[in-house]
Amino acid sequence: MADNFLPYHVPSIGPQEIAAVSAALESHWITAGPRVQEFQKAFRAFVGSEHALAVDSCTAGLHVVLAALGIGPGDEVIVPDMTFCATANVVMHVQAKPVIADVTRDTYHIDPAAIERSITPKTKAIIPVHYGGQLCDMDAIMDIAQRHRLFVIEDSAHTIGVKYRGRMVGTIGNATVFSFYATKNLTTAEGGMITTDDDDLAEKIRILTLHGISKDAWKRYSAQGTWYYEVVAEGFKYNMTDLEAALGLVQLRRLPEFMARRRRLAERFNAGLKDVRGIRIPATLPYNDHGWHLYVVEINEQVCGVSRDRFIEAMREHGIGTSVHFIPLHRHPLYRNKLGVKPEQFQRSEEIYQRIVSLPLYPAMRDEDADRVISAVQETLGT
Ligand SMILES: *Cc1c(COP(=O)(O)O)cnc(C)c1O
Repeated sequence: MADNFLPYHVPSIGPQEIAAVSAALESHWITAGPRVQEFQKAFRAFVGSEHALAVDSCTAGLHVVLAALGIGPGDEVIVPDMTFCATANVVMHVQAKPVIADVTRDTYHIDPAAIERSITPKTKAIIPVHYGGQLCDMDAIMDIAQRHRLFVIEDSAHTIGVKYRGRMVGTIGNATVFSFYATKNLTTAEGGMITTDDDDLAEKIRILTLHGISKDAWKRYSAQGTWYYEVVAEGFKYNMTDLEAALGLVQLRRLPEFMARRRRLAERFNAGLKDVRGIRIPATLPYNDHGWHLYVVEINEQVCGVSRDRFIEAMREHGIGTSVHFIPLHRHPLYRNKLGVKPEQFQRSEEIYQRIVSLPLYPAMRDEDADRVISAVQETLGT
């Protein structure tokens, strides 16, 4: 193993982030306070949505949106096979049933035709996942949703600041949920944001995010507030803290710089890898921006004689960390046992899963790091 290991991910936390968190600590507002309010306001302006509600993770955000929409026992929610487990688990958290749909072969997005096939009288919502950094075909999905009167809750863990046919993510479906987990394009360590244009839904989410209390902590304890509150719903403890919001405010200002750097690195990878035998560089959609959250290549063993698993090992020997996004839902014992899903039902995601590898791509990487990844791939695949 090389001693200068290039990790799969390193967050971009600099002096500005450290100063902002220190200032928050010194202000004595360490949990939900003025910085959360400010971050929500800045995020709303950035996305162009009516509301932005901060939560402590994307998972919490998805859960609270489902709860606020009244989705519960007996209901079904359609999710893609190629996603992180959180997308399906939140459906189970409200005692509804996730119905797993296969994905498109090129971009690993939920397939609109598979959504149509999965709809039953019990279907209440669709959770499209904007895999890797490109938005799903939202026109097709919104059209299906309108015809069948379904809610659309977008899992935008990978697509902050990305547009679909000129429309900013966070302004399309009924609600959109972002992740600020350590590995995401903008991080608050842990955190998330829900955007929506629906005033009623926003109010329900606001209440459910903090114990079902009808006023938030900031208003309660600030000068304009009072000691009185009422619990009006079975809420959760899902609020963001001011320490996280302090990080988020700095990261949001730096986002254009991060996005530009990701794009440059992706272009470098594309140029260096497109002619390597047995590899497929990421497919890009003409109507979309790409946020380049992930850089996912496919290794075709039939062509290059190297399996995906062997490829990952070889990259590690070259001192390069990689990852796999994702092990499809249908492969996990939980969904197999609870939902009775079988690999034959997911031919595309099964084939995708056999081949995919995520290469390291993050703003802290230098051009030399990208070139090192390219050389390691070329050596591993023998070109
Ligand atoms: C990271 C991720 C999540 C979960 O985000 P958290 O903020 O960690 O809860 C959900 N969906 C997808 C597709 C993700 O990649």
